[in-house]
Amino acid sequence: MDARVSPWMTEELSILREQAKRFLERQFVPHRERWDKAGVVDRDAWRAAGAAGLLCASIPEAYGGGGGTRAHDLVISEEIGRAGLGGGFGAGAGVHSNIVAHYLLAYGTEAQKQRWLPGMATGDLVGAIAMTEPNTGSDLKSVRTTARRDGDAYILNGQKTFITNGQNADLIVVVAKTDSTGGAKGVSLLVVETANAPGFRRGRNLEKIGMHAQDTSELFFDDVRVPRANLLGDVEGQGFVQLMVQLAWERLICASGAVVAMEMAVELTAAYVKERKAFGAPLLTFQNTQFKLAEAKTHAVIARTFVDDLMVRLLAGSLDPTTAAMAKWWTTETQCRVIDECLQLFGGYGYMTEYPIARLYADARVQKIYAGTNEIMKLLIARTL
Ligand SMILES: Cc1cc2nc3c(=O)[nH]c(=O)nc-3n(C[C@H](O)[C@H](O)[C@H](O)COP(=O)(O)OP(=O)(O)OC[C@H]3O[C@@H](n4cnc5c(N)ncnc54)[C@H](O)[C@@H]3O)c2cc1C
Repeated sequence: MDARVSPWMTEELSILREQAKRFLERQFVPHRERWDKAGVVDRDAWRAAGAAGLLCASIPEAYGGGGGTRAHDLVISEEIGRAGLGGGFGAGAGVHSNIVAHYLLAYGTEAQKQRWLPGMATGDLVGAIAMTEPNTGSDLKSVRTTARRDGDAYILNGQKTFITNGQNADLIVVVAKTDSTGGAKGVSLLVVETANAPGFRRGRNLEKIGMHAQDTSELFFDDVRVPRANLLGDVEGQGFVQLMVQLAWERLICASGAVVAMEMAVELTAAYVKERKAFGAPLLTFQNTQFKLAEAKTHAVIARTFVDDLMVRLLAGSLDPTTAAMAKWWTTETQCRVIDECLQLFGGYGYMTEYPIARLYADARVQKIYAGTNEIMKLLIARTL
């Protein structure tokens, strides 16, 4: 698709985009299928991405990061998506750099930031965030995982599921109750260092309908002793607020992924319908094909325009969570519809996994579910009516 130049782009960001693109094409794309089959990307890929500057780009240099802005993160995430790695390395890297590293930066004590962020930037430490439990997803304040104080440590007990990077993670920000009578006010965030956590166990790497190379796991915590020094921000009961503050950025990243996927779907489909013939003429000569693609392209452009506006606001420090919730539900809903329409134009080939449109279709579905379901987004928006 002829690219609309985003108003937040700069020359420096264009150079970063080119570098990321070249790196991903050379170093990661050749492994894509193998990673899909393995259900996880190679551990070494994380270090390679770190060395190439693709991790923690907006974390200050003082903590080993790239010293850039969230625009640097967004450019990297867009290129990972365009390389067809959004449902593999992309989702994991997004959680690592855009979510976990920013939790540590925003709430960590100086000692915590010095201890963990440099390793995250190099890819030596892989980050995960564990909120969801088998019985609690959307209703986060009802988590049952407990962290009971015992001298200079917490004793962590509970079970998590659907955790991105679950198999590879070295640092897991665990949402737990330090006060099980306190509702949202009893929630705290504890950082579990998996290398030294007897009682911590990784469960199954779950099989999914898409995002095959992205390890999504069950995690178990049985009497895991977590040092008091690993309580994020050093104050109990702040976990719920800490989670909420970061949401606008997480939703924006999700919406941006939706835009990239739509743009790719339109490009792939436009190329296909110019080549493929039926009844003696290219599919593009049928008015239905033209109209469907005209609609798809329009949706992609509207979505990009909306997300660009959010990005400008985020960089100016004025993005509100409600607008981000609107972008999250609308772009992901539209992504699923647009990709479905595009896939239809491929006929049977669209259903074959060797065609990239099939991968886009399968990877898209979860966008309406994670980062807060689209129903929860609408609830949040409705509260502002
Ligand atoms: C591939 C993948 C990766 C993930 N990665 C992570 C991760 O890294 N870390 C993590 O913690 N979690 C992760 N998740 C979990 C994800 O965030 C949850 O699945 C999501 O929040 C929904 O929770 P749930 O599955 O328990 O569904 P539920 O909360 O049980 O919801 C089921 C349905 O009910 C609807 N619903 C719930 N409450 C309401 C309401 N009040 N009003 C109207 N409708 C409602 C929901 O919208 C949904 O349609 C991941 C999930 C997937 C699939």
